[in-house]
Amino acid sequence: MNKELSINLLINNNEVKAEVYREVRDPGRLTDVVGSVAVGTAEHVDQAVRAAHHAFQSWKKADWTERAALLLKAADLLEGEISTLAPILTREAGILISGSRGEVVGAANVLRTTVELAESFYRPNQMEDDKGWISVEKKPMGVVAGIIPWNAPLLICMGKLAPVLITGNTIVIKPSPFASMAVTLAMQKIADLFPPGVINVVHGDAEVGNVLTTHPLVRKITFTGGGQTAKNVMKAASETLKSVHFELGGNDPAIVLDDADLEEIIPQIADAAFRRSGQICIAIKRVYIPEKIYSSACEIMCDYVNKLIVGHGMNEHATLGPVNNEMQFNFIKKLVESTKQSNAKVVELGTKLEPDQWENGYYLQPAIVIDPDHDQAVVTCEQFGPVLPLIPYRTEQEAIFYANNMELGLASSVWSSDEERALAVAREIEAGLTSINGAGSTPLGLKYAPFGGRKQSGIGVERTELGLAEFIEYHSLNFHKRTNVSK
Ligand code: NDP
Repeated sequence: MNKELSINLLINNNEVKAEVYREVRDPGRLTDVVGSVAVGTAEHVDQAVRAAHHAFQSWKKADWTERAALLLKAADLLEGEISTLAPILTREAGILISGSRGEVVGAANVLRTTVELAESFYRPNQMEDDKGWISVEKKPMGVVAGIIPWNAPLLICMGKLAPVLITGNTIVIKPSPFASMAVTLAMQKIADLFPPGVINVVHGDAEVGNVLTTHPLVRKITFTGGGQTAKNVMKAASETLKSVHFELGGNDPAIVLDDADLEEIIPQIADAAFRRSGQICIAIKRVYIPEKIYSSACEIMCDYVNKLIVGHGMNEHATLGPVNNEMQFNFIKKLVESTKQSNAKVVELGTKLEPDQWENGYYLQPAIVIDPDHDQAVVTCEQFGPVLPLIPYRTEQEAIFYANNMELGLASSVWSSDEERALAVAREIEAGLTSINGAGSTPLGLKYAPFGGRKQSGIGVERTELGLAEFIEYHSLNFHKRTNVSK
């Protein structure tokens, strides 16, 4: 990979250089420099917000169909860049190359499905009787700040950009320092399709986040990331009473019922838990299994997970990549070590693809935790890594109790051969999304399912028309007919 790949800021459709650049290293080959990324300052944020505010004055007046046409062009452009963007995403974030390619396609599809939703969203809503009429109009809010995490950066970025722009707002994006290259490159290409200032990108350290979340011209913050950061963002936003939209972490339970076909479902559960090395907000994070089938389930799970091949994301033989960054790596290692000191059994599995490179990346063996207590950290925290606790339970009510016994409620799943039974359990789970015999998706795609967390897993939703409604304000116009005018 190109050592000279140097990523600048994007303000008003200009690439803007910074005084300081941060070196980006490959989490799967720490000795390799992938490139460098400009570190923006408070002044850059101010310039970007002002450019977005200026652009908003005309962008808000464009018909939604004009905005939609540009988003569709952006989708095609993005998909056309798959061979450039996917390897960069893999090299900067540790994602398997197949996952990076899938992410580029998924990101383009988010743009397309948003355009489909807009058609019904913008259907006129007017009521009239002999006294007058009322028209409820949907108005954009202004400049929106989009704050992005590192784990699925392009997909999450497009999940913000698409509803923000189609509803007539403009955006300033702040990618994560652990995955800003592919996002910014994509934005630099896409932004040229739009009027200057509609799309801006500023990366940097804490100063950038602070200025963006307190800037008086920013009307709304859409943030995906961790709960503690969300609390800081909410405090910062309160000063100017900004609206917030939060997609936060989860600790998604999977409840296996005693009639489930283990040979069929365990591989699916493992895939949903270990995809992207467990670094997905809606990955399965804990599995509840009836006592009477517990030991067979553990055996099938260990056999399956043992087939995972841990290696660099660019190596097509790898089925599990490194974790994204040092903090995450140390956190999971410590969690595994402390779990080993408990009564639970930790089984470390998988094959090392290139053992001589093992220490040169944030590699971890996938681990299954057997017989953990309900209240130990590996069960109660969002591990966000390749470690999966399997917890035995006696009654369904007990499983439901423990599934709900925490402040998080993002996604969840129930696994059974009996649809009615599974549905009854699913209805009792406190989560934004519950899948039966699947995880992290719906059979019809996410287009029809509002996506968001309950309790401390989020505020507001993405996808569907409800996701578009996050970025508008209502304006009720009413007309009083003159009833006493003589004819
Ligand atoms: P973080 O919360 O650490 O960071 C997310 C983003 O917020 C980064 O761009 C970060 O940049 C920025 N940020 C941090 N502090 C501030 C601040 N005070 N003001 C403004 N911006 C700030 O999350 P991670 O990137 O580590 O992502 C992992 C988390 O994201 C997990 O908890 C995961 O579950 C959650 N997530 C949720 C999803 C969902 O849809 N529900 C989807 C994907 C992930 P910087 O590091 O420069 O400060």
